[in-house]
Amino acid sequence: MHTETLQLHNSDGRKLQDFIPIEPRKVRLYCCGPTVYDYAHIGNLRAYTHWDILRRTLTLFDYQVKHVMNITDVGHLSDNADSGEDKMLESARRQEMSVWEIADFYTKAFFKDIERMNILLPHIACRATEHIPEMIELVQRLIERKLAYVESGNVYFDTAKYPEYGRMALIGKQNLQHGSRVDIDENKHNPLDFVLWFTKGKFEHQAMLWDSPWGRGYPGWHLECSAMSTKYLGERIDIHTGGVDHIQVHHTNEIAQSEGVLGHRWVNYWIHNEFLIMKNQKLSKSEGEIITLQSLCDMGFHPLDYRYFILGGHYRTQLIYSQESLENARMARKSLNHRVGSLKEDIEARKTGGGVNSETGDSNFANTVNAVTGSKDDFGHSGTARIKSFRAALGEDMNTPRALAELWLLLKDRNTSPEQKLSTVLEMDKVFGLDLANISVENSEKLNGELNELLDRRQRARKAGDWTTADQIRDTLLKLGWKVSDRPSGPKLEKL
Ligand code: AMP
Ligand code: ZN
Repeated sequence: MHTETLQLHNSDGRKLQDFIPIEPRKVRLYCCGPTVYDYAHIGNLRAYTHWDILRRTLTLFDYQVKHVMNITDVGHLSDNADSGEDKMLESARRQEMSVWEIADFYTKAFFKDIERMNILLPHIACRATEHIPEMIELVQRLIERKLAYVESGNVYFDTAKYPEYGRMALIGKQNLQHGSRVDIDENKHNPLDFVLWFTKGKFEHQAMLWDSPWGRGYPGWHLECSAMSTKYLGERIDIHTGGVDHIQVHHTNEIAQSEGVLGHRWVNYWIHNEFLIMKNQKLSKSEGEIITLQSLCDMGFHPLDYRYFILGGHYRTQLIYSQESLENARMARKSLNHRVGSLKEDIEARKTGGGVNSETGDSNFANTVNAVTGSKDDFGHSGTARIKSFRAALGEDMNTPRALAELWLLLKDRNTSPEQKLSTVLEMDKVFGLDLANISVENSEKLNGELNELLDRRQRARKAGDWTTADQIRDTLLKLGWKVSDRPSGPKLEKL
């Protein structure tokens, strides 16, 4: 078992690999960011949450991370390749706003969502529209290297001149068909070629235009990531992330542009998250069904309930969204908060001489003195063992479901003192990001009140012979992590 090694699944080669940074203890991380033409849907937020876990995992493994993310505010067409409508333009027309206003509005909305989900902000968030000169320079260099050609005013990447084209996508060129079949661009020498710079586009009303050596126009979508990542992270990047939908076109084209111009391998590890799906369908804006973080909040969920829900699935497996499974995540998080609140209560009580621990009913712990007087890193024997298996879980391609299981095992462990438990839990939460450090004793008292209320309701239901309601409440308590048993003296709650 790897405890100290971080293994990641590299889409470029499709295998698990030990993570080895370019520079010792430093990581250059680039994450493909949002196209700001609408609110992020919860599928998009799944992607950003996993990259947040990636960044926090890297920090747990003692790496210093420089995290860069782009904001696409120009040029993203609806089919990811060179056809379809311009997403920004279409949204501006629909909402009767300028494209600039649309970009500004949805960029702010995006960062608000990110903050609410406790996702760490990238160190650099760069807008495509603020990096047009860098993109033009990249196109010039590709033309100089004869990897691009000008045809009828547009500049195209010449895939025939780049033998490695499609390496990561693992599909032979003959099978890779970008662009919709009805919308083949006659100017392309090869159907796989893609636009680097548009001057003659389908979009006569394109509002975002810049002067270039090839005429007034705008960049192809893929260009921004190649240009901005090099500007902020240099010519070699450790990790580049995105959703699996980006493997075939966007990232394939990014690799062609960057490696074409740089003349060497560009990204060492490509990490792609699987999709959040609903009813076996893609949760995409183009299919009309879009659930935002705000819609979850309107249903009474906390953004961190959704974060907890995401942590319950491995990033490389599809996650099926349903209100019921989100409800389960909410219950589990509530129970987690309660346990952490109780731990804090116990620790307070012991400090003030109270002494009886509600976790174990015993105030006499081995190692307690060590834990209280020891350093912040002193997790005690079982805490240290748990942290080890927690690290091992994350080290195996960021296995968050297993890491969560470790957290619960720790909480249920009766041989660890509250102090050791709490410090270990808070250490784990540096990766989970569930804001456990801020759980207050009052929160836990609030939950105590809710538990009592549930117990009362169940008792009333039982007295009235309403066994269905009584059973439902018992199940709710079970989901919250409490087993209720009926004794002659009355109902008794036991922590699971
Ligand atoms: P976009 O704003 O469309 O460029 O998407 C932002 C990020 O979300 C990209 O990395 C996509 O690959 C990712 N993404 C899109 N849809 C989903 C989904 N349903 N589940 C998970 N990730 C998604
Ligand atoms: Zn990108």
